[in-house]
Amino acid sequence: MDSAPFAEAASELRHQFTNLLESLSALRSLIDLDPQANDEETLLDQALHTLAEYQDLERSSVFLLQGRELINYSGLSREETAPDNPGFPEGSPSRGTTAYSADSGLMGLAVQTGQLQHCSNCAEDTRFRSWDGDNSVGSLICTPIFHLGQPLGVLNVSHPAPEAFAPWHEHLLQVFSTMLGYMLANHRLVHAMEAHVQERTMELEEALGEAERLKRRFEQLAIIDDLTRIHNRRFLFSAAAAEIAKAQRYRIPLSLMLLDLDHFKTVNDQYGHAAGDRVLKEIAAYFREQTREGDILARMGGEEFVLVLPGTGTEGAQCLGERIRRDIRSFQWQSEDGREFSISVSVGLTVLSPGDLPDLDSHYLLERMLAEADKAVYRCKAAGRDQMDTQDLDNDPG
Ligand code: GH3
Ligand code: MG
Ligand code: MG
Repeated sequence: MDSAPFAEAASELRHQFTNLLESLSALRSLIDLDPQANDEETLLDQALHTLAEYQDLERSSVFLLQGRELINYSGLSREETAPDNPGFPEGSPSRGTTAYSADSGLMGLAVQTGQLQHCSNCAEDTRFRSWDGDNSVGSLICTPIFHLGQPLGVLNVSHPAPEAFAPWHEHLLQVFSTMLGYMLANHRLVHAMEAHVQERTMELEEALGEAERLKRRFEQLAIIDDLTRIHNRRFLFSAAAAEIAKAQRYRIPLSLMLLDLDHFKTVNDQYGHAAGDRVLKEIAAYFREQTREGDILARMGGEEFVLVLPGTGTEGAQCLGERIRRDIRSFQWQSEDGREFSISVSVGLTVLSPGDLPDLDSHYLLERMLAEADKAVYRCKAAGRDQMDTQDLDNDPG
């Protein structure tokens, strides 16, 4: 009995079995690709590698649909299947540079019909046009890549020999391109979502930044006096108490000056409220020039200002108070209707010396100092105004 036909059949069976295994391996490798790890081009390059790794293909490429054009996105030739060598075959057009109409040619046919196009002898097939100018293609299969009925592109595989591809190649490529379609769609969806999330995150960050800026602005407004743009009493109470606590702890002197403009009601009455406002603004600006970094200047209200001078004792504070008093007396103002006038100020001073009242709460001590400075101002007023008086901080408030 002639055993040759059996051997031949067994060999053919073995061959087909190997092909089947390799096809399954190619599909398995495709599934193993992480669609989120890379950009679309890298994903396609990797997909072509998995295909080339298990199949006897000379060349493979993917063209993606953009509008009515098919653009080359990935390409691979047999000698380039090493995993560290992805990309277009040498000498072929680089990515994104070749465009074919999706309405003509074999690829166009694949896209239009949704059917795999197999050109088994390209030299004699009028539908065939070489995409890289070389006419060494013998066999070509163009498989459409679809997802949910939408065409995404075409997967091409070619071989220099005619009749190189068998029906099982067609089956493999159909399954392969279906999976590729899922992967591409999934990839695009995730990236579109990521872009969306990123956009929203940026909008949110911008809104948070704006809210933070507004919050700071409102906080700032809450401690700034509208008219004079210097700090208000709200700021004074928190900042001065902190400075007093520091002065107690480090045993340094601290002076507090209350400055009350004299007969200011008369200024308003005689020269108008607008002139009064202008005086208040310019006096505040002048006070600011007189302060050093670390000093606190605030408008207590009306025509009363407070200066807190950490590190300044009686002598230094009296010197400054006297200079301010003289300067203000010397300033000339003008009413809206051109009348000139001058004003004066009464200055009440009180000084916390190192070691004074070390056990008192700083907020309480601030109240005490303001009250003592007020007493000093009162004495100035009683004595004819335009002067300075110093009130000791005695140990017994009673
Ligand atoms: P004294 O010498 O006793 O301090 O007299 P005075 O008139 O300065 O004191 P009084 O407390 O009687 O009046 C303060 C005046 O300050 C009353 C008010 O018209 C004026 N004043 C308070 N706030 C403002 C302001 O924002 N703008 C203007 N133009 N005037 C103000
Ligand atoms: Mg007053
Ligand atoms: Mg006054």
